[in-house]
Amino acid sequence: MLVSQGFDAALAGVLGLLVGSFLNVVIYRTPVMMYRQWLGDAVGNLMKVDGVPSLWSLVFGPKTTTPAALEKAADEAAKSIDALPPFNLSRPASRCGHCGAAIRWYQNVPVLSYLFLRGRCGACKTPISPRYPLVELVSGALFALCAWRFGLTVTGALWAAFAALLICQFLIDLDTQYLPDSLNYALLWLGLIGAAAGLTGVPLTAAVWGAVFGYLSLWLIYHVYRIATGKEGMGYGDFKLLAALGAWLGADYLIAIVLVSSLVGAVLGSLLLLAGKLAHKDIPISFGPFLAGAGLVCLVAGPDTVRQWIPFAFPLGALAL
Ligand SMILES: [Zn+2]
Repeated sequence: MLVSQGFDAALAGVLGLLVGSFLNVVIYRTPVMMYRQWLGDAVGNLMKVDGVPSLWSLVFGPKTTTPAALEKAADEAAKSIDALPPFNLSRPASRCGHCGAAIRWYQNVPVLSYLFLRGRCGACKTPISPRYPLVELVSGALFALCAWRFGLTVTGALWAAFAALLICQFLIDLDTQYLPDSLNYALLWLGLIGAAAGLTGVPLTAAVWGAVFGYLSLWLIYHVYRIATGKEGMGYGDFKLLAALGAWLGADYLIAIVLVSSLVGAVLGSLLLLAGKLAHKDIPISFGPFLAGAGLVCLVAGPDTVRQWIPFAFPLGALAL
């Protein structure tokens, strides 16, 4: 039993290392893809295309048109955007961000290549961030944990996907203060589908209410805070991420998730402070990394253990929403 459990975990761990290598691509490229899309939309909306009125005339009235200079600039910008080479999760092939040298397959083996290259680009010797092998290691460890706990099953794969998506959201938000909808919605839908199929062990009603109250609670706090202080403390991505976590763990875990996320925030804040990353006080740390971190803590500890740690966070536990 233990031997096969260990074998499953080792196999999943190797898969997790390879997936982690891909997550590095997702973390780096998703925001860039998003920005390119936004820029293209912004420029396109200024132009009249095939008789469809520009957003300018929809906003300022049907008799106005986009100012000629702006339309001309938008037209040129649109041509430049169209002329850009494709950029998505599979193209272009991975390159050194410094010298542009193509990364060969043997330089792209998770963790090992980093050690073999001593953390430097094979061509120009520019240091490579240790974050890349770290993401691979964390992904490998979490995949191994999921297989150890659930075996090589659909449930194990589902929780591994949960881990992978949260790793991405954690780092993308830390880098950019954005939580891409594409990843939030994938997480939300997988949680709901997992509950509906009986794979996450959370009743479907608890998952749906978890998503509803997860979203609404932060939405409410956001608007109360905004009206009281005139500032915006969170973004809509945070509401969606807590909704997704509520779908995975159930409505009765929402208070616990928020409590654990403040703990993650304290730990992460101290670490960043120690690393000198928070020297500028005006650099915002958003709430997303804490929420994603809380989701990962719940996965690693196991939801039942979290319930034992902080039983007071489950006042409605008996209702089993
Ligand atoms: Zn290089």
